[in-house]
Amino acid sequence: MGDIAIGIDVGGTKALALVVARDGRVLGDVQVATPHDESIGAGTATVAVLADEVNDLCARLGLHANEVPIGIGLPGLVRRDGRLAFAPNLPTASGADLGALLGQALASSMVVCENDANCAALAEHEWGAGLGIDDFVMVTLGTGIGGGIIADGELVRGRSGFAGEIGHMVVEARGVACLCGGHGCWERYASGGAVGRMARVEARAGRLPKMVQRCGGPEKVRSEDVTAAAAEGVDEAEALMKQVGWWLALGLSNLAAILDCGHFVIGGGLSVVSDLVLPAARECLVDLVEGYDARPTITVATSMFGPRSGAMGAALVAFERVS
Ligand SMILES: [Zn+2]
Repeated sequence: MGDIAIGIDVGGTKALALVVARDGRVLGDVQVATPHDESIGAGTATVAVLADEVNDLCARLGLHANEVPIGIGLPGLVRRDGRLAFAPNLPTASGADLGALLGQALASSMVVCENDANCAALAEHEWGAGLGIDDFVMVTLGTGIGGGIIADGELVRGRSGFAGEIGHMVVEARGVACLCGGHGCWERYASGGAVGRMARVEARAGRLPKMVQRCGGPEKVRSEDVTAAAAEGVDEAEALMKQVGWWLALGLSNLAAILDCGHFVIGGGLSVVSDLVLPAARECLVDLVEGYDARPTITVATSMFGPRSGAMGAALVAFERVS
């Protein structure tokens, strides 16, 4: 069984599980909605759903759930011992030891947990857009922004396992409130969720008349409406995406200043429309990065595996940490 693992990426809205071979091939997948039932204890509802998901996958592929290493990627602060310490986007599982709980549910001793963006970074480093690159940062643009830092070829985990929480770098002093309790966090300006939030702010101020007409009101403008309109060439939507590109570049320039990384891999839901954001981000980096011309080229690439990189990386964590 050493050549197959299961990786699960648990997000705020859905949980994707993949069966992955050691060479990165995906052999099976299943996706379910993430439950948000708080009445039965932290993580209990989540684990029940994940156990069903794993059993379903295993039944289809003729595997035994307690004989396959399982990695879980989680959106939040995951301690080195696997416990989910803080998860603003998954509050019903916050504080739970999902690895231990899923292990109990499946009678398995082979379940490990890691932060979801750290998982994505590992997958891109092993098989994807970070292959052969020893210093890069994985940036996942979804509801928020997740980060995974590869330095000298290794994942940076930090003292407690919490390194790479780049979405909560403050990029606007006294800026808009964030789910983490802070204000002005990067993910409020450059994530998939930020596209919709900023569009509604602009729409309320009367600056997006075409989008308001298209969506039926300023409060009805969503991220996907903006990206669809920008892809069709609607000028005000294109301009908003360029603005998001500037905010993205601002955070990347902070990371380049701290880490001297030469490469960024952009993943998550918004990376599917990276053509609308990355050209502007690359252009803005030239002005925002300290000593841009004095540095070797800084590259910004789209993730190879898109929304699947977290689950693939979770499988990789299982390969590496379950023995
Ligand atoms: Zn925050």
